[in-house]
Amino acid sequence: MNGKVHWADVYASEVPQDRKHRIATGITPSGPIHIGNMREVLTGDLVFKAIRDRGLEAELLYIADDFDPLRKVYPFLPESFAAYVGRPVSDIPCPCGGCRNYAEHFLGPFLEAIEELDIRPHVIRSSEEYRRGSYTDEIRTAITHAGEIRSILERISGRTLPPEWSPFYPICSICGRISNARILEHEPEKHLVRYRCSCGNEGIADYSKGKGKLVWRVDWPMRWAHFGVTVEPFGKDHASAGGSWDTGREIAKKVFGVMPPFPIVYEWISLKGKGEMHSSKGIAITIGEMLEIVPPEVLRYLIVRTKPERTIDFDPGMGLISLIDEYDRLAAEGQSREFALSKISSIPTRIPFRHMVTVVQIARDDRGLFQCLSRSGYDIRDYENILGQAKRVRIWLKKYAPEFVKFSVKERLPPQVSELGDDERAALEEYLEHLRSLKSWHAEELHNGVYMVAERRGMNAAKIFSAIYLVFLGQRQGPRMGWFLEAMGRDPVLRRLKEAVKGAH
Ligand SMILES: [Zn+2]
Ligand SMILES: [Zn+2]
Repeated sequence: MNGKVHWADVYASEVPQDRKHRIATGITPSGPIHIGNMREVLTGDLVFKAIRDRGLEAELLYIADDFDPLRKVYPFLPESFAAYVGRPVSDIPCPCGGCRNYAEHFLGPFLEAIEELDIRPHVIRSSEEYRRGSYTDEIRTAITHAGEIRSILERISGRTLPPEWSPFYPICSICGRISNARILEHEPEKHLVRYRCSCGNEGIADYSKGKGKLVWRVDWPMRWAHFGVTVEPFGKDHASAGGSWDTGREIAKKVFGVMPPFPIVYEWISLKGKGEMHSSKGIAITIGEMLEIVPPEVLRYLIVRTKPERTIDFDPGMGLISLIDEYDRLAAEGQSREFALSKISSIPTRIPFRHMVTVVQIARDDRGLFQCLSRSGYDIRDYENILGQAKRVRIWLKKYAPEFVKFSVKERLPPQVSELGDDERAALEEYLEHLRSLKSWHAEELHNGVYMVAERRGMNAAKIFSAIYLVFLGQRQGPRMGWFLEAMGRDPVLRRLKEAVKGAH
């Protein structure tokens, strides 16, 4: 990094150096968790690792806000979910029927994905903490300071709240909704509130048993106090003037008597040409879908190489290939801080993505795939892992690759060969002779052979490349020639060229 200090290390040097750190991240699992959300967890993980690398003690928390109510029937949900709007996502059935509840349906794949990304936080579920009574003291404090909290919120956010407003939202015993019920009475010693819900029900809620939750703007600083959070990354939406960060830090100091954490504000990730990612709008790629195509260390690198305050415009097509190339260069050097923060502990045999793109399009099956790879000199013992890499590339080709990288090797001499001019045929013949004379079969040699023939004949090399592609692919372009021919194998290549040349006479 040319002597520049990595942003994660800059943050690590700015936090207090005399204490143990708790870095908190959190996401509401109310829909598919997309790579925009991943930035939060990865940013937290990078700062966590940077703090630890300074020799300080640190812990990474991931708080799943699974006690938040379902806000609306999202486009990916059946209409029947209208009945659950307003209920905690941990109390709603899962959309597929196979998971513990609605929240777990989205949380499960997300937790698997972050493990693949080498992020191992201490996972906390809000629903469990509320039900276990972990927050009883803090909720009592919040309800007894309702007036003070209200005036902080009104002063800083500019909103007007009704005089009977309470930071505690009970879960109605009749309609099951977390609602802005009116609190009629508070019995602090018994941790009970009497409330009247908008459905007409008048009931009693015990907040030591999770019969309600604090409103988000109070819940957030409450956690800082409860868990002793010292560092927290959050999206720019929370950071706007009068937003939940502004009110939260005031509430933390005045009501809960703690210092707010060191803030790290991050920008969104947008999908090239499609705009910012929001799972509710359906223009997102989930982390799982990303890991279907992107090696996990490269996904880390995407976040590592960009400062949190800068937007990432992610291009899953050719942009992904450049990103992988860039990562591979860093990996080859093996020195940079960016590489150290991106890499994942156990790196198995990695086939360069570009090469895999060529090989999976040549090979007709897995056996062919391994033959191609071993011809290209790769160690193929790590069978499962290599199949996994090939799978990623196949999905990428199907879903994101631009047309010009796609090809198929024709089983017979393509009819387009009749387009070849006399000079091209002669060049093919000379190239064939050259290949026959070679004692070994190596990509670079095969590649340079084309230039050699071009020079000898005083022809443009591009013209010869295009003629060779035509013979194998029936089109005038293709993958890098030498590596393509190497993976194809000597005999099939000689046979096809011979046919093409013979057809010309
Ligand atoms: Zn499910
Ligand atoms: Zn109700």
